Amino acid sequence: MAKPGTQARRKRSAPELPFGGAWSYEPSLESTDHVVLAERYGLFLDGAFVRPSTGRYFATSDPATGRQLALVAEAGPKDVAAAVVAAQRAFRSWRRLPGTERARYLFRIARLLLERAREFAVLETLDNGKPIAETRDIDVPLAAQHFFYHAGWADKLDLVFPGAVPEPLGVVGQIIPWNFPLLMAAWKIAPALAAGNTVVLKPAETSPLTALRLCEVLQQAGLPPGVVNVVTGAGATGAALVRAEGLAKVAFTGSTEVGKEIQRQVAGRGIDLTLELGGKAAHLVFEDAALDQAVEGVVRGIFMNQGHVCCAGSRLLVQESVHDAFVAKLQRRMARIRVGNPLDKNTDMGAIHSAQQLARIEALCAAGRAEGATCFQPPCRLPERGFWWPPTLFTGVAQSHRIAREEIFGPVLTVSTFRTPDEAIEKANNTSYGLSAGVWTDKGARILWVAERLQAGVVWNNTYNRFDPAAPFGGYKESGFGREGGRQGLRAYLRLPDAPTPA
Ligand code: ADP
Repeated sequence: MAKPGTQARRKRSAPELPFGGAWSYEPSLESTDHVVLAERYGLFLDGAFVRPSTGRYFATSDPATGRQLALVAEAGPKDVAAAVVAAQRAFRSWRRLPGTERARYLFRIARLLLERAREFAVLETLDNGKPIAETRDIDVPLAAQHFFYHAGWADKLDLVFPGAVPEPLGVVGQIIPWNFPLLMAAWKIAPALAAGNTVVLKPAETSPLTALRLCEVLQQAGLPPGVVNVVTGAGATGAALVRAEGLAKVAFTGSTEVGKEIQRQVAGRGIDLTLELGGKAAHLVFEDAALDQAVEGVVRGIFMNQGHVCCAGSRLLVQESVHDAFVAKLQRRMARIRVGNPLDKNTDMGAIHSAQQLARIEALCAAGRAEGATCFQPPCRLPERGFWWPPTLFTGVAQSHRIAREEIFGPVLTVSTFRTPDEAIEKANNTSYGLSAGVWTDKGARILWVAERLQAGVVWNNTYNRFDPAAPFGGYKESGFGREGGRQGLRAYLRLPDAPTPA
């Protein structure tokens, strides 16, 4: 295990990072000695780290090397119940705290996250496999922004929802996935706390370390015990949380399959529910678009975070007249994507998050080939250890192909064509999902025309995968319901008997 202080003594050739640190390019714990890891992590209950009643721990590993990072407690139903009780107790005083006081805690958490940004970025990259350039520039700052943004609302709830007396719901059970571990935690905790609720959060079992480190930040910020509790474990722990007595709401982000199961569990219990589930987003490129910029947007849309993004632009629809030119440009651009060591700041695509996810990507790509689509992968040397997949493009894809219908959740893009705007809309909406979409065109009127007709919660215009805490995010159809972010997201954590829904 690395010790603090060894960093200064180590000879290094890596360039300085913008925020003042530096590290060697070897993805080993020794090279990340500014992140000190405990051998094992307890559950965060009532303001303290405690042993699980199960006595069991599970390993979390670095997907880029397969190396075990730490052991993490497995919470059983007893631990989950204790967490809910702690959150209920904390709710009594937290809800009565003036909004200005709750805001103060949230601001403090946001500032501490930024102060410890490098540590969080490295830890997230280690535990998740995503490139440090992304954790540094997207995940961590955006997580802090969520706390800043919601701190701003905490004392203005009556102004956001005029004509109503906004009341918090109570204890919220929050279950998050592995693809944006810290960001999802912030995205869920910040609005809940701003609205006066208390939280029991369950991170994903394959990437729990940044949520646990966030608990250290909560302690540092002096957040009252029980306001946020974190129970780690796999699906069984999540299921125990959903079943727990005393919840006012469940907020879930994850697979459509588990989302449906949670919906069944919650039905009839008078519990609020928001579900943010899978996606199969259409990314439309019209012939009048700025094609080089569109190529960049398409690359960001599908290869960011190795395509482990529920709103990834995974179905590219290109107007027939520019299809060949666009695909040629895209292939040239894909050949420049650097895949490898996630701790190297020049890396564009890191490791696939798990063996299970890699197996799914492999199986669906095999199905794509078998069904007759043409596969392109640029020459690319992948590391020997860990889980890897090159950027992948399928052309000649029919709507009926599995790769065009099923969420792959990997760096795999399918391409089809359309002739008219109507056909583009028809194809884009031909999916059971409805989370996001993108459109590239030079015509403002067409953007509005398309956006009105796309069945998607988020529509990006001449950009893709841009996130802002002020913008509501959420889906239609099998992508779930409820919004997170913005006033709409805040509303989902409040009881507002008489208030109109914000526009
Ligand atoms: P993914 O396929 O992306 O791993 P999952 O939906 O399986 O998505 O997981 C998302 C989160 O839901 C994780 O924290 C996971 O542990 C949790 N989870 C899995 N199964 C259940 C379940 N039956 N009930 C509640 N939570 C679950």
